Amino acid sequence: MFGGGRMKPAAFDYVRAESVEHAVEVLAGADGDGKILAGGQSLMPMMNFRLVRPSVMVDINRIAGLDRIELRGNRISIGALVRHRMTASDTIIADRAPVLREAMKHVAHLTVRNRGTFCGSVCHADPAAEMPMMSQLLDAVVHIASPRGARSLPIQDFLVGSLMTALEPDELVTAIEIDALEPGTGWGFGEFARRHGDYALAAVAVTIKKRDGIAHGVRAAVMGVGETSMRVREIETALEGNDLQADLIDSAIDAMRSTLEPNTDLHASADYRRHLCGELMRRALSDAWSRSGGAHLQ
Ligand SMILES: Cc1cc2nc3c(=O)[nH]c(=O)nc-3n(C[C@H](O)[C@H](O)[C@H](O)COP(=O)(O)OP(=O)(O)OC[C@H]3O[C@@H](n4cnc5c(N)ncnc54)[C@H](O)[C@@H]3O)c2cc1C
Repeated sequence: MFGGGRMKPAAFDYVRAESVEHAVEVLAGADGDGKILAGGQSLMPMMNFRLVRPSVMVDINRIAGLDRIELRGNRISIGALVRHRMTASDTIIADRAPVLREAMKHVAHLTVRNRGTFCGSVCHADPAAEMPMMSQLLDAVVHIASPRGARSLPIQDFLVGSLMTALEPDELVTAIEIDALEPGTGWGFGEFARRHGDYALAAVAVTIKKRDGIAHGVRAAVMGVGETSMRVREIETALEGNDLQADLIDSAIDAMRSTLEPNTDLHASADYRRHLCGELMRRALSDAWSRSGGAHLQ
């Protein structure tokens, strides 16, 4: 969100957590004023700019067992210390969530990807970040620990707004679980940013299974056109159970555009963002359909 700068954070206590239980106990003792440190790629700039001033920073980087990507049935669990770089090079992700690997290529620069974590990005909930959108696309469930025990939230209940989640101040995300795509599932990802590695103006992601010439399990998500990234039900319901043709896609995209309410800001007008999303969606749908064995639609 910020490039750094010469400012220094306000004073804070630093605690290196030995375990998940230790981390949440320290958070609970901080009277709502503690912050988890994962990769620090968003937290440290925010602290340097004094946009957040935690009294206690709880470093989870030495907690054992949180740095794993595991395939469990048809779900993939991504632990709280899985760095972007690991997600981008992991074979389970490459085989069962290739759309996530593609999205990761667009996240920041190598140095940020070496430290930044998948779970930290979802917890930060930046509306212009790719991982919250990918979590929505892949029907993520967020696993949470606190002194009261464990709970899990579907991603749509976890992401509340721009930079806002349903996490309580004494809670820690231990892992996020996403769908593993069935082999043969088609996918598409598209993004427009002014420079590679910058936060995107808009991005879209799609998955489709083609069975007997018909689209099944259509999932579509967008970001850059609202308070948070979101699933696009207009596209999903219009395409589900149909043979995909260019005119059907055109009408689904028109339906999507009519519901989007992007802001005009320094970077782009609302109309431009709406247009951009439509074009990115058209290409992503075409890529997904052809990857699942259908004809290229453009
Ligand atoms: C120059 C630059 C460019 C960037 N460009 C992009 C980009 O293009 N796309 C993109 O998606 N991101 C981008 N980022 C952000 C990057 O992906 C961050 O790594 C990510 O947003 C946060 O992950 P982190 O592990 O660094 O979290 P941190 O900075 O450590 O934490 C972020 C927030 O989440 C909380 N948190 C972290 N982990 C947990 C947890 N397990 N449980 C509870 N709370 C937790 C922290 O307390 C803090 O509030 C960029 C960052 C920089 C510095």
